[in-house]
Amino acid sequence: MSNLPQETIIKIKKVLQKKKASVEKQIAEIDQDDPLMNKDLAPEASESGTDSWMAEVHARLSSLKGDLLNFSARISNALTNMKKGTYGKCEKCGQEIEINRLEALPTATLCLTCSKKKKVS
Ligand SMILES: [Zn+2]
Repeated sequence: MSNLPQETIIKIKKVLQKKKASVEKQIAEIDQDDPLMNKDLAPEASESGTDSWMAEVHARLSSLKGDLLNFSARISNALTNMKKGTYGKCEKCGQEIEINRLEALPTATLCLTCSKKKKVS
């Protein structure tokens, strides 16, 4: 069981649920803005340069969407761990992650020590 106080978990859970909703909204908006996903945005005439413009916008939005999907997966993971009661444990060493760290970075899966080690290597 996690040693985190229940009220801290509830507080972080609320933050995560809010973030998840906002990330999902952003993902939906990206699909709307992507000319390859949203046919309404595609230019009518296929002028020269249009394809590369569409490819460029698509590439930029895809990369942004990838980051958001990644973030959304980390939020889901944290929420699942809360249900299982394993939230707040470092994935590497199994120690409790510092409460300050979780409050600042609720999707953290490594304790401060392990995350520092990870950066160095
Ligand atoms: Zn650790």
